[in-house]
Amino acid sequence: MILSERVPWDENEWKEILRRSVRDADTLRTKLDLRPEQTAWLDHSNFSVFVPLPYLSRIEPGNPADPLLLQVAPSVLEQQEVDGYSTDPLGERNSAASRVLQKYSGRLLYIAASACPIHCRYCFRRHFPYDDHESASVESLLAALSKDKSIFEVILSGGDPLLLSDCSLKKLVSEISAVPHVRTIRIHTRFAVVLPQRVTTQLLEALRDERLNIVVVIHANHPNELDMNVELAIKAFKSTDVTLLNQSVLLKGVNDSATVLKQLSWKLFRIGVLPYYLHLLDKVTGTSHFDLPEEQALSIFRTLQSSVPGYLAPRLVREIPGRGSKTLVNAGTVS
Ligand SMILES: *Cc1c(COP(=O)(O)O)cnc(C)c1O
Ligand code: SF4
Repeated sequence: MILSERVPWDENEWKEILRRSVRDADTLRTKLDLRPEQTAWLDHSNFSVFVPLPYLSRIEPGNPADPLLLQVAPSVLEQQEVDGYSTDPLGERNSAASRVLQKYSGRLLYIAASACPIHCRYCFRRHFPYDDHESASVESLLAALSKDKSIFEVILSGGDPLLLSDCSLKKLVSEISAVPHVRTIRIHTRFAVVLPQRVTTQLLEALRDERLNIVVVIHANHPNELDMNVELAIKAFKSTDVTLLNQSVLLKGVNDSATVLKQLSWKLFRIGVLPYYLHLLDKVTGTSHFDLPEEQALSIFRTLQSSVPGYLAPRLVREIPGRGSKTLVNAGTVS
């Protein structure tokens, strides 16, 4: 492979970049030339700050309303107690022990890592009790797979599964590949966007499999998140056989505009990624300030849908516990 020529960073750079990430609100403020009076809302939080420098570099200095800043800067509004919000709205807590979640037929989600390369303030798993069962491991996944022959897809989620070493990933892929009824491994990751230096030749080698389809679902919410290095990372992925999709969360103040979402879709398309899901916010404690009324979400979505080709309109969905799939928030009822 000639991939090493495509990405201008070396194999281990990402670990050093992670280590140097911003971990508190004051550093965030200083590095971005924000005056305290501009950011009186900036607060300390029990969900700590974590922003890698490549992401920070895409935030406009001096702009307290920057759509990327709002995704990572803890706000006093996180302390609000709001009716209808809870720490586990999706009912995932009981799965913490096994790290295996099966809600939908044929697909099994495995919490492969317990941390992320960024802390998104709106995270639906910000209260997930990762540490309770640090010792649970791949055995529970393999046991679940051997018990249920109808499972055709394993979704590696987290946390971010690309926090695992290349060596651990390679082992995991080959263990899953050895299960004959599994056809696809899907990887949900925010790395390609927030810390594209994670995408290296060694990683691509680790994820390569003779038999399985590999799907990588990245997570970008705003076109400003996609810079040159993200494009290089995506191009590197594309030089292998992976299918690339994007999921976003609709967030007040960040991307609650058809124009912004349209730019996001086109930019994703230009680098080779198709929009997959646009999620309505899950009602997790501490995130209510990002929520939009459903009618407004629908109106933004309709405008988006009418201005892009069908393949650039993501599916607007909401997660309702107990359902067999994500629930489409329907854009058009027949009248
Ligand atoms: C979203 C999700 C999936 C994947 O659903 P798709 O509609 O296939 O993308 C699988 N398992 C869980 C637990 C999920 O939350
Ligand atoms: S990367 Fe995903 S799981 Fe991690 S903090 Fe962000 S939204 Fe949550």
